[in-house]
Amino acid sequence: MIQKTDFLVIGSGIAGLSYAVKAAKHGRVTIITKKKIQQSNTALAQGGVAAVFGKQDSFSLHMEDTMKAGDGLCNPDVVKMVVENGPERIRELVDQGARFNKTGKGKFDFALGREGGHSAKRIVYAHDLTGREIEDALVACVRKHDNITILEDHVAVNLVTFSSSVRSGVLVTQYENICCGAYVLNKNTGEVETFHAAVTILATGGASKVYLYTSNPDIATGDGIAMAYRAGASVANLEFVQFHPTCLYHPKAKNFLISEAVRGEGGRLLDVRGRRFMADYTPDRELACRDVVARAIDNELKKTGAESVFLDISHKNTAFIRERFPNIHARCLEYGIDITTDPIPVVPAAHYMCGGVATDLNGKTDVQGLYAVGETACTGLHGANRLASNSLLEALVYAHNAYLDSVKEFSGLQNKVDITLDPWDETNTSDSDEAIVVSHNWDEIRRLMWNYVGIVRSDKRLQRAARRIKTIQDEINEYYWDFKVTSDLVELRNIATVAKLVIRSALMRKESRGLHYNIGYPNRDDKNFLAHTILKKRF
Ligand SMILES: Cc1cc2nc3c(=O)[nH]c(=O)nc-3n(C[C@H](O)[C@H](O)[C@H](O)COP(=O)(O)OP(=O)(O)OC[C@H]3O[C@@H](n4cnc5c(N)ncnc54)[C@H](O)[C@@H]3O)c2cc1C
Repeated sequence: MIQKTDFLVIGSGIAGLSYAVKAAKHGRVTIITKKKIQQSNTALAQGGVAAVFGKQDSFSLHMEDTMKAGDGLCNPDVVKMVVENGPERIRELVDQGARFNKTGKGKFDFALGREGGHSAKRIVYAHDLTGREIEDALVACVRKHDNITILEDHVAVNLVTFSSSVRSGVLVTQYENICCGAYVLNKNTGEVETFHAAVTILATGGASKVYLYTSNPDIATGDGIAMAYRAGASVANLEFVQFHPTCLYHPKAKNFLISEAVRGEGGRLLDVRGRRFMADYTPDRELACRDVVARAIDNELKKTGAESVFLDISHKNTAFIRERFPNIHARCLEYGIDITTDPIPVVPAAHYMCGGVATDLNGKTDVQGLYAVGETACTGLHGANRLASNSLLEALVYAHNAYLDSVKEFSGLQNKVDITLDPWDETNTSDSDEAIVVSHNWDEIRRLMWNYVGIVRSDKRLQRAARRIKTIQDEINEYYWDFKVTSDLVELRNIATVAKLVIRSALMRKESRGLHYNIGYPNRDDKNFLAHTILKKRF
């Protein structure tokens, strides 16, 4: 079945939804999302969105903080553009229905939080459920729109490039650089449908499920990065994976993050003996950037052999803790931890992918008709390390820019993709009876990435990981061509691709910078590596 739409939006987090609401004024929008609409990283974001509203704050301070975190690799034009457009995009969110904590009666009198790496109070938040508030507001907006079709339980398998005629889109000709939609697995029917669109927006979020321990939900398998790479788009800076220093450590807690804001509000990190240790590593102590804090915790864990360190906010007033962190308080209580009296056991976990599909200032990739927005993109904002709460901001600003640019190009692109697409080809495939192979490979990749491509790396570990991933990928490819696709297989193929790209990028950077730390090259080397790591598939 071939379905036509003007704007195909893949993903229903902040990036996809905020783009869709705007594009719907100019044409038909189809949002496809692989689970239920609200299942996204966005819905789990706790801390907030960074933007300059404070009297003691300024654009130049926010820019300075962003560039300092980015450790030499931020694109200054991008940083300036994002920071200066932030307040307007947040005011727009309020008009779309999002309610943030306020200090006064004015519509935009926001209460502002402070987080690690920020030199001023500039985090706009909704208690500790900021992402849920934004997601709910945007979902309500897209549901109201007649021009928007929402298809849940639909998984994009591959992008359709101009002349791709078989399932993977690898058969390309001189037209390889035009995207005209996507092949999408409808999980309700098991069929792969062809979506034909003038503009395709990748808003598929992050890739932290590539690691064994992560704060991310199951959707974060880097599908957008893998699909864009297969379609010939450049991907950049994938060695820069952010590990959040403080995920709850409890056998029953899957992926529960203890927000940066807890440290921002005075939370102290203690070792297993109850000693506050961050001063041993940096004068910024708990308010240092995430990479510094995550490496310090990693070191403490290795030094002491303990299973976790502890984050303690119990010295603060009980009423304040309950009011400021209602969600964290309630969730920890479920596991028998009362954060008003007890320290919280925490460990670092993969949290955010700073690299992604390379874009220009409008979210445009180097494949015509294809845009990437949100965590799946690499815009140049974060450089070698993302400043806390800059990612929701980036998604908002880039969704807006991509909207303006893509509606301008829309009619031109319509003519270019006015062709007949081949449907998905399942000839010679059968139903898989080897689900166990898929789950074993999943587990192996994630464990391998955690052990060899984690917070502290070495060339030897990276090379070992590269060899192993190559073997796993060969197995997956064999499997992919012989059996009907399932969503598990699609995700497995994608995490393997992303793992390979992360390892290759990490091997290319023979220095330590930002989130990439290689014990063989412990220093930053501006002479040779003050540049982005770009990978592009050769056909
Ligand atoms: C626990 C947690 C807390 C965070 N806190 C903050 C914070 O306080 N401030 C901040 O700025 N950032 C925070 N972040 C990061 C931030 O939430 C994300 O970077 C941001 O929400 C990403 O938005 P997105 O729209 O790009 O992707 P997501 O919100 O992840 O949405 C991706 C969407 O794409 C869909 N999808 C993926 N692959 C496919 C496919 N193949 N086919 C169809 N659909 C697909 C998914 O189902 C999902 O709907 C946090 C992240 C986590 C996990």
